[in-house]
Amino acid sequence: KKNAQLNNLRFEMAQIQRDQRSRPDDLPQAIKAVLDDNALEMRYQPKVDLRSQRIKSVEALVRWPVDHAQVLATNLLIDVAEQYGLIEQLTMQVFNKVLQEVASWEKKGLHVVVWINLSARLLALPQLPKMLERCLNVWNMPASAIGLEVTESAFIHDIEHTTALLFELKRLGFRLSIDDFGTGYSSLAYLRRFPIDELKIDKLFVQGMSNSQQDKQIVQSIIDLAHNFSLSVVAEGVEHEETLNTLRQMGCDDIQGYYFAHPMRGEQLLGWCEEFHHRT
Ligand code: C2E
Ligand code: MG
Ligand code: MG
Ligand code: MG
Repeated sequence: KKNAQLNNLRFEMAQIQRDQRSRPDDLPQAIKAVLDDNALEMRYQPKVDLRSQRIKSVEALVRWPVDHAQVLATNLLIDVAEQYGLIEQLTMQVFNKVLQEVASWEKKGLHVVVWINLSARLLALPQLPKMLERCLNVWNMPASAIGLEVTESAFIHDIEHTTALLFELKRLGFRLSIDDFGTGYSSLAYLRRFPIDELKIDKLFVQGMSNSQQDKQIVQSIIDLAHNFSLSVVAEGVEHEETLNTLRQMGCDDIQGYYFAHPMRGEQLLGWCEEFHHRT
């Protein structure tokens, strides 16, 4: 049972090693050039509300430009951007692109909250709330249109500072979610300490459920934990109907994964949502 997971892990490790071996020395420069060209692309993946069968929100995922000679996986892009001090510029670009797109969807009658991934390192930046606020003003959008997905690793450094920052982001009106919940240095203390709205169950557990009773129990525990704290809970990485049905029985609120949709271009989203709502 654990074999599948182990294989998965081995596969991921091999992939990372391969990525690093083929990593050119000028990768940071290549990233800088793409950033300066404002050339990053965005994709959007719906979060399906199981109870209403409606799309109330989507997650924004950054992509290296598809027509670029080089190919670069998102995880590696983020890693290198973090290491070379480019993550601030990357995040601002993502925010601007997302807000511009949300504004255009609103005009066409598509109202969805967009969740944006926030690098853990950015939570160390005291000017982060101001930066995001300025961005919202430029596009004339309310913070309530945006959710921020943060991983647990953001919380292990300076607890006092992180707490203050999260409260400031919350005060501005952003929704907050803990991404990849259960894989980091989980401390239950922050569930009562931080002003969060949602837990996001890592796909490792979600996908493990099909052959691991333990993963099933972990997922059920996270769902119950979230609900006991009046938080919403979403499962990522759902690829099969069986997993979907299990999560529904377990009381999971939202579902995300290839079963419903791969991350798609902003132009496709309106049509996709219309078709989905028509179908269900
Ligand atoms: P994440 O936020 O945990 O996102 C989930 C990842 O799982 C995404 O990979 C998504 O494309 C993928 N995924 C979605 N559904 C399925 C499924 O059913 N099966 C499988 N196997 N995978 C699925 P992606 O887009 O490559 O992003 C990887 C990570 O990079 C993200 O993990 C997030 O931590 C980070 N990231 C992505 N976009 C941004 C961004 O704009 N800013 C920052 N700071 N980080 C980002
Ligand atoms: Mg995420
Ligand atoms: Mg995740
Ligand atoms: Mg992840």
